[in-house]
Amino acid sequence: MERSPVVFRIPMRERFRGQTVREGVLIHGPAGWGEFSPFPEYGPRECSRWLACAREAADEGWPVPVRAAVPVNSTIPAVPPDKAFQLVRQAGCATAKVKVAERGQSFAEDLARVEAVRDALGPSGKLRVDANGAWSVDEALSHLKALDRFDLEYAEQPCATLGELAQVRRRCDVPIAADESIRKAEDPLRVRAAEAADIAVVKVQPLGGVRNALRVVEACGLPAVVSSAVESSVGLAAGLALAAALPELPYACGLGTMTLLSGDVVKDSLMPVDGQIAVRRPNVDFSYLSEFEIESPSWLRRMQEAAS
Ligand SMILES: [Mg+2]
Repeated sequence: MERSPVVFRIPMRERFRGQTVREGVLIHGPAGWGEFSPFPEYGPRECSRWLACAREAADEGWPVPVRAAVPVNSTIPAVPPDKAFQLVRQAGCATAKVKVAERGQSFAEDLARVEAVRDALGPSGKLRVDANGAWSVDEALSHLKALDRFDLEYAEQPCATLGELAQVRRRCDVPIAADESIRKAEDPLRVRAAEAADIAVVKVQPLGGVRNALRVVEACGLPAVVSSAVESSVGLAAGLALAAALPELPYACGLGTMTLLSGDVVKDSLMPVDGQIAVRRPNVDFSYLSEFEIESPSWLRRMQEAAS
Protein backbone atom coordinates (compact mmCIF):
# COMPACT_ATOMS: atom_id res chain seq x y z
CA MET A 1 0.00 0.00 0.00
CA GLU A 2 1.30 3.41 -0.91
CA ARG A 3 1.62 5.88 1.95
CA SER A 4 1.07 9.63 1.93
CA PRO A 5 4.07 11.97 1.67
CA VAL A 6 5.64 12.92 5.00
CA VAL A 7 7.41 16.23 5.64
CA PHE A 8 10.39 16.05 8.01
CA ARG A 9 12.61 18.51 9.83
CA ILE A 10 15.85 17.26 11.39
CA PRO A 11 17.98 19.68 13.45
CA MET A 12 21.62 19.89 12.36
CA ARG A 13 24.46 19.48 14.82
CA GLU A 14 26.29 22.38 13.16
CA ARG A 15 25.20 25.17 10.85
CA PHE A 16 25.45 24.18 7.15
CA ARG A 17 24.82 26.56 4.23
CA GLY A 18 23.45 28.98 6.83
CA GLN A 19 20.85 26.37 7.89
CA THR A 20 20.26 24.92 11.33
CA VAL A 21 17.70 22.31 10.23
CA ARG A 22 17.37 20.00 7.23
CA GLU A 23 13.87 19.65 5.83
CA GLY A 24 12.25 17.75 3.01
CA VAL A 25 9.48 15.42 1.91
CA LEU A 26 9.59 11.64 1.96
CA ILE A 27 7.49 10.01 -0.74
CA HIS A 28 6.51 6.37 -0.96
CA GLY A 29 5.99 4.15 -3.97
CA PRO A 30 6.20 0.53 -5.13
CA ALA A 31 10.01 0.49 -4.88
CA GLY A 32 10.22 2.14 -1.45
CA TRP A 33 10.84 5.61 -0.05
CA GLY A 34 12.40 8.58 -1.83
CA GLU A 35 13.54 11.96 -0.51
CA PHE A 36 12.78 15.39 -2.01
CA SER A 37 14.90 17.95 -0.14
CA PRO A 38 16.02 20.87 -2.34
CA PHE A 39 17.69 23.77 -0.53
CA PRO A 40 15.39 26.74 0.23
CA GLU A 41 16.73 29.01 -2.54
CA TYR A 42 15.84 26.65 -5.41
CA GLY A 43 12.86 27.37 -7.65
CA PRO A 44 10.46 24.89 -9.30
CA ARG A 45 12.65 24.29 -12.35
CA GLU A 46 15.67 23.19 -10.33
CA CYS A 47 13.41 21.37 -7.87
CA SER A 48 11.98 19.22 -10.67
CA ARG A 49 15.33 17.39 -10.90
CA TRP A 50 15.41 16.82 -7.14
CA LEU A 51 11.88 15.42 -7.42
CA ALA A 52 12.89 13.12 -10.29
CA CYS A 53 15.48 11.61 -7.95
CA ALA A 54 12.85 10.99 -5.25
CA ARG A 55 10.44 9.51 -7.81
CA GLU A 56 13.09 7.16 -9.17
CA ALA A 57 13.70 5.89 -5.62
CA ALA A 58 9.99 5.43 -4.94
CA ASP A 59 8.88 4.06 -8.32
CA GLU A 60 11.82 2.17 -9.85
CA GLY A 61 14.64 1.68 -7.40
CA TRP A 62 18.26 1.76 -8.55
CA PRO A 63 20.66 -0.06 -10.86
CA VAL A 64 22.61 -3.03 -9.56
CA PRO A 65 25.68 -1.97 -7.53
CA VAL A 66 29.15 -2.95 -8.72
CA ARG A 67 30.73 -2.61 -5.25
CA ALA A 68 29.66 -3.56 -1.74
CA ALA A 69 31.06 -0.56 0.12
CA VAL A 70 31.87 3.07 -0.67
CA PRO A 71 34.88 4.78 0.95
CA VAL A 72 34.06 8.22 2.37
CA ASN A 73 36.06 11.22 3.53
CA SER A 74 35.82 13.10 6.78
CA THR A 75 35.16 16.84 6.48
CA ILE A 76 37.17 19.12 8.72
CA PRO A 77 35.65 22.58 9.19
CA ALA A 78 37.71 25.76 9.66
CA VAL A 79 38.68 24.89 13.24
CA PRO A 80 41.98 25.36 15.11
CA PRO A 81 44.74 22.78 14.45
CA ASP A 82 44.34 20.77 17.67
CA LYS A 83 40.61 20.39 17.03
CA ALA A 84 41.27 19.44 13.38
CA PHE A 85 43.71 16.74 14.50
CA GLN A 86 41.16 15.37 16.95
CA LEU A 87 38.33 15.33 14.35
CA VAL A 88 40.45 13.37 11.85
CA ARG A 89 41.34 10.78 14.49
CA GLN A 90 37.71 10.50 15.64
CA ALA A 91 36.37 10.05 12.09
CA GLY A 92 38.65 7.11 11.34
CA CYS A 93 38.61 7.84 7.58
CA ALA A 94 41.76 7.45 5.45
CA THR A 95 40.75 10.57 3.48
CA ALA A 96 40.08 14.02 4.93
CA LYS A 97 38.66 17.11 3.26
CA VAL A 98 39.79 20.33 4.93
CA LYS A 99 37.89 23.59 4.63
CA VAL A 100 40.18 26.51 3.81
CA ALA A 101 39.72 30.20 2.86
CA GLU A 102 37.14 30.74 5.59
CA ARG A 103 36.02 34.36 5.78
CA GLY A 104 37.80 36.25 8.57
CA GLN A 105 40.68 33.78 8.81
CA SER A 106 44.27 34.09 7.58
CA PHE A 107 46.13 31.75 5.26
CA ALA A 108 48.48 30.97 8.16
CA GLU A 109 45.47 29.38 9.88
CA ASP A 110 44.76 27.27 6.78
CA LEU A 111 48.38 26.11 6.69
CA ALA A 112 48.36 25.19 10.37
CA ARG A 113 45.08 23.29 10.03
CA VAL A 114 46.22 21.36 6.95
CA GLU A 115 49.50 20.49 8.66
CA ALA A 116 47.61 19.15 11.68
CA VAL A 117 45.37 17.07 9.44
CA ARG A 118 48.39 15.60 7.64
CA ASP A 119 49.89 14.71 11.04
CA ALA A 120 46.64 13.02 12.08
CA LEU A 121 46.26 11.10 8.79
CA GLY A 122 49.86 9.96 8.54
CA PRO A 123 51.76 9.85 5.25
CA SER A 124 49.47 7.30 3.57
CA GLY A 125 46.23 9.24 4.17
CA LYS A 126 44.63 11.31 1.40
CA LEU A 127 44.19 15.02 2.04
CA ARG A 128 42.09 17.36 -0.07
CA VAL A 129 41.20 21.02 0.54
CA ASP A 130 37.97 22.86 -0.26
CA ALA A 131 38.02 26.65 -0.72
CA ASN A 132 34.34 26.91 -1.78
CA GLY A 133 35.31 29.27 -4.61
CA ALA A 134 36.79 31.92 -2.30
CA TRP A 135 40.24 32.50 -3.85
CA SER A 136 41.32 34.65 -6.78
CA VAL A 137 43.50 32.95 -9.41
CA ASP A 138 46.69 34.42 -7.91
CA GLU A 139 45.70 33.45 -4.37
CA ALA A 140 44.85 29.92 -5.50
CA LEU A 141 48.19 29.51 -7.26
CA SER A 142 50.31 30.68 -4.33
CA HIS A 143 48.19 29.02 -1.61
CA LEU A 144 47.99 25.65 -3.35
CA LYS A 145 51.72 25.67 -3.97
CA ALA A 146 52.30 26.28 -0.25
CA LEU A 147 49.68 23.73 0.87
CA ASP A 148 51.02 21.06 -1.47
CA ARG A 149 53.92 20.69 0.96
CA PHE A 150 51.39 18.49 2.80
CA ASP A 151 50.72 16.43 -0.33
CA LEU A 152 47.27 17.36 -1.64
CA GLU A 153 45.08 14.78 -3.38
CA TYR A 154 43.16 17.62 -5.03
CA ALA A 155 41.73 21.09 -4.44
CA GLU A 156 37.97 21.51 -4.55
CA GLN A 157 36.63 24.69 -6.16
CA PRO A 158 39.62 26.97 -5.42
CA CYS A 159 37.96 29.81 -7.41
CA ALA A 160 34.39 30.67 -8.28
CA THR A 161 34.19 30.65 -12.09
CA LEU A 162 35.02 28.10 -14.77
CA GLY A 163 37.43 30.55 -16.41
CA GLU A 164 39.36 31.00 -13.17
CA LEU A 165 39.41 27.26 -12.47
CA ALA A 166 40.82 26.66 -15.95
CA GLN A 167 43.58 29.22 -15.40
CA VAL A 168 44.54 27.70 -12.05
CA ARG A 169 44.44 24.21 -13.49
CA ARG A 170 46.81 25.11 -16.33
CA ARG A 171 49.39 26.62 -13.97
CA CYS A 172 49.18 24.37 -10.91
CA ASP A 173 50.33 20.81 -10.15
CA VAL A 174 47.47 20.06 -7.75
CA PRO A 175 44.46 18.42 -9.47
CA ILE A 176 41.34 20.59 -9.47
CA ALA A 177 37.81 19.42 -8.59
CA ALA A 178 34.65 21.32 -9.53
CA ASP A 179 31.87 21.38 -6.93
CA GLU A 180 29.85 24.62 -6.88
CA SER A 181 30.35 24.78 -10.67
CA ILE A 182 28.20 21.63 -10.93
CA ARG A 183 24.61 22.19 -9.88
CA LYS A 184 22.67 21.14 -12.97
CA ALA A 185 22.75 18.24 -15.37
CA GLU A 186 24.47 20.23 -18.13
CA ASP A 187 27.19 21.60 -15.84
CA PRO A 188 29.64 18.66 -15.88
CA LEU A 189 29.81 18.96 -19.67
CA ARG A 190 30.54 22.70 -19.36
CA VAL A 191 33.29 21.99 -16.84
CA ARG A 192 34.81 19.48 -19.23
CA ALA A 193 34.51 21.77 -22.25
CA ALA A 194 36.19 24.63 -20.34
CA GLU A 195 38.99 22.27 -19.23
CA ALA A 196 38.27 23.69 -15.79
CA ALA A 197 38.69 20.57 -13.66
CA ASP A 198 40.22 17.10 -13.38
CA ILE A 199 37.45 15.76 -11.15
CA ALA A 200 33.69 16.32 -11.01
CA VAL A 201 31.92 16.45 -7.65
CA VAL A 202 28.35 15.25 -8.29
CA LYS A 203 25.20 15.11 -6.20
CA VAL A 204 22.40 12.75 -7.12
CA GLN A 205 19.35 14.94 -6.33
CA PRO A 206 20.25 17.98 -8.51
CA LEU A 207 21.28 15.61 -11.31
CA GLY A 208 17.81 14.03 -11.35
CA GLY A 209 18.42 10.58 -9.87
CA VAL A 210 20.88 7.71 -10.12
CA ARG A 211 20.31 6.79 -13.77
CA ASN A 212 20.48 10.38 -14.95
CA ALA A 213 23.60 11.05 -12.92
CA LEU A 214 25.28 7.94 -14.35
CA ARG A 215 24.58 9.24 -17.87
CA VAL A 216 25.88 12.71 -17.00
CA VAL A 217 29.09 11.34 -15.48
CA GLU A 218 29.65 9.08 -18.47
CA ALA A 219 29.11 11.92 -20.94
CA CYS A 220 31.38 14.21 -18.93
CA GLY A 221 34.21 11.69 -18.90
CA LEU A 222 35.84 13.03 -15.71
CA PRO A 223 36.31 10.87 -12.61
CA ALA A 224 33.43 11.57 -10.22
CA VAL A 225 33.29 12.08 -6.48
CA VAL A 226 29.73 11.55 -5.22
CA SER A 227 28.77 14.00 -2.54
CA SER A 228 25.58 14.33 -0.48
CA ALA A 229 23.24 17.27 -0.04
CA VAL A 230 23.12 16.36 3.66
CA GLU A 231 20.03 14.22 3.29
CA SER A 232 18.46 11.81 5.76
CA SER A 233 19.46 8.19 5.17
CA VAL A 234 16.55 7.87 2.70
CA GLY A 235 18.05 10.52 0.41
CA LEU A 236 21.61 9.53 1.18
CA ALA A 237 20.83 6.00 -0.02
CA ALA A 238 20.35 7.39 -3.55
CA GLY A 239 23.82 8.99 -3.47
CA LEU A 240 25.21 5.73 -2.15
CA ALA A 241 23.45 3.85 -4.97
CA LEU A 242 25.09 6.20 -7.50
CA ALA A 243 28.55 5.73 -5.97
CA ALA A 244 27.93 1.98 -5.87
CA ALA A 245 26.94 1.85 -9.56
CA LEU A 246 29.69 4.01 -11.09
CA PRO A 247 32.04 1.87 -13.19
CA GLU A 248 35.08 3.64 -11.65
CA LEU A 249 35.32 5.18 -8.20
CA PRO A 250 38.91 6.35 -7.74
CA TYR A 251 38.26 8.77 -4.85
CA ALA A 252 36.58 8.60 -1.46
CA CYS A 253 33.09 10.15 -1.58
CA GLY A 254 31.49 12.94 0.43
CA LEU A 255 28.68 10.74 1.71
CA GLY A 256 29.70 10.55 5.35
CA THR A 257 27.31 13.34 6.29
CA MET A 258 24.87 11.58 8.62
CA THR A 259 27.14 12.75 11.44
CA LEU A 260 25.99 16.33 10.69
CA LEU A 261 22.35 15.56 11.53
CA SER A 262 21.04 15.10 15.06
CA GLY A 263 18.80 12.19 14.08
CA ASP A 264 17.49 10.03 11.24
CA VAL A 265 14.26 8.56 9.87
CA VAL A 266 15.66 5.02 9.71
CA LYS A 267 17.06 2.72 12.37
CA ASP A 268 19.99 1.41 10.32
CA SER A 269 21.47 4.86 9.58
CA LEU A 270 23.99 5.19 6.73
CA MET A 271 26.85 6.03 9.07
CA PRO A 272 30.42 5.36 7.97
CA VAL A 273 32.26 2.55 9.74
CA ASP A 274 36.05 2.37 9.38
CA GLY A 275 35.94 5.03 6.66
CA GLN A 276 33.32 3.39 4.47
CA ILE A 277 29.58 2.90 4.13
CA ALA A 278 28.27 -0.56 3.32
CA VAL A 279 25.97 -0.35 0.29
CA ARG A 280 22.38 -0.88 1.39
CA ARG A 281 18.98 0.76 1.45
CA PRO A 282 17.62 1.26 4.96
CA ASN A 283 13.86 1.40 5.41
CA VAL A 284 11.91 4.23 7.04
CA ASP A 285 11.17 3.39 10.67
CA PHE A 286 8.04 5.19 11.87
CA SER A 287 9.17 5.28 15.48
CA TYR A 288 12.16 7.31 14.26
CA LEU A 289 10.32 9.33 11.60
CA SER A 290 7.59 10.44 14.04
CA GLU A 291 10.14 12.40 16.05
CA PHE A 292 10.91 14.59 13.02
CA GLU A 293 7.57 14.71 11.20
CA ILE A 294 6.06 18.19 10.76
CA GLU A 295 2.92 19.65 9.19
CA SER A 296 3.99 21.75 6.23
CA PRO A 297 1.55 22.61 3.43
CA SER A 298 4.25 24.81 1.89
CA TRP A 299 6.59 21.84 1.37
CA LEU A 300 3.80 19.83 -0.27
CA ARG A 301 3.03 22.80 -2.49
CA ARG A 302 6.69 23.11 -3.39
CA MET A 303 6.68 19.47 -4.44
CA GLN A 304 3.54 19.96 -6.54
CA GLU A 305 5.10 22.96 -8.27
CA ALA A 306 8.20 20.91 -9.03
CA ALA A 307 5.98 18.24 -10.62
CA SER A 308 4.11 20.55 -12.97
MG1 LIG B 1 32.73 21.64 -1.86
